[in-house]
Amino acid sequence: MFRFRSPKEQDAVVQVALKQIEKMLKEMQADGKDLTRLKLKKFQKTHHATCRCEQCRSAKAKDDPRLRGLLEDGFKVYVEGDEP
Ligand SMILES: [Zn+2]
Repeated sequence: MFRFRSPKEQDAVVQVALKQIEKMLKEMQADGKDLTRLKLKKFQKTHHATCRCEQCRSAKAKDDPRLRGLLEDGFKVYVEGDEP
């Protein structure tokens, strides 16, 4: 993750990111992509399968990958009905 020197700097970066996302979506729409069913899904990435931290080892012992350690939140954008 980025480290910001100040909340003001963070705001500026968020604004730029939003502008770029908006631009990208407009381009996709111009390409004929139907974005009316566009969805944004929040998810948490789990640690890599080879991770040996305490949480991951315990998950392996219980044979339940959902108990694995989590990395930071991620977002996934997709069109409904076209889910990867
Ligand atoms: Zn882990």
